[in-house]
Amino acid sequence: AKIQEGISFLLIDMKSPGVTVRPIITLGGEHEVNEVWLENVKVPVENRIYEENKGWTCAKFLLAHERSGIAGVARSKRGIERIRQIASTELSDDGDALIKDPMFKRKVAELEIDLTALEYTELRTLAGEASGKGPGPESSVLKIKGTEIQQRITELVLEAAGHYGAPYFRGFPKDGDNAHPIGPDFAHRAAPTYFNVRKTSIYGGSNEIQRNIIAKMVLGL
Ligand SMILES: Cc1cc2nc3c(=O)[nH]c(=O)nc-3n(C[C@H](O)[C@H](O)[C@H](O)COP(=O)(O)OP(=O)(O)OC[C@H]3O[C@@H](n4cnc5c(N)ncnc54)[C@H](O)[C@@H]3O)c2cc1C
Repeated sequence: AKIQEGISFLLIDMKSPGVTVRPIITLGGEHEVNEVWLENVKVPVENRIYEENKGWTCAKFLLAHERSGIAGVARSKRGIERIRQIASTELSDDGDALIKDPMFKRKVAELEIDLTALEYTELRTLAGEASGKGPGPESSVLKIKGTEIQQRITELVLEAAGHYGAPYFRGFPKDGDNAHPIGPDFAHRAAPTYFNVRKTSIYGGSNEIQRNIIAKMVLGL
């Protein structure tokens, strides 16, 4: 039998005895994830979703949707718009607006082209969904391209911040902080966001694994 056939999908009440949650602080200095330990936790059988030993079928369904969502086209569109705003006030080495720098302009244009291609691929997936054909392994393409674009956006913001991106205020500033770190406002979160977004090529199934899925399930290699 396949190794996936021994997995069952359970809903576990986090207040059950034996569940321990410990915070993990990410590279960006924030608490958004935890390690969850399960020690002899008892779960009523009615909390099992779908058939016993068929949990992987549920997981694959959920992961295909998660990976489509991770593509984040609208969020990346806002990200590129923001880069354009930042680069119209920040200056390049020759004293002109950064957005006029041919190298920087080229990187923004390449991002926009890749994002447009991703948007149409996502729309094709959504059209399939509307006609009752849920997202399948093709969602791995959306996941890879979407997360690569998100990471490139944070790289460009960091590049635009220049040396003001270098002071690394771990987890700072938070909403409501009165302290003012040096440099323009957008630069304060440039480094923590850059570090945080490294996660996107890992979560939802790492991008290397998505390439394996595409090779096997989409291209039939
Ligand atoms: C911020 C964050 C939030 C997360 N949130 C959740 C969550 O809410 N729920 C949840 O269930 N999980 C969550 N995860 C876990 C996430 O799904 C896993 O970290 C991810 O699937 C990678 O698995 P792994 O950590 O076991 O890495 P591993 O599988 O140990 O991989 C380690 C490295 O080896 C590579 N690798 C492994 N196997 C192969 C192979 N066959 N071919 C080529 N390369 C390979 C991987 O690409 C990776 O670079 C989260 C992770 C992060 C970082």
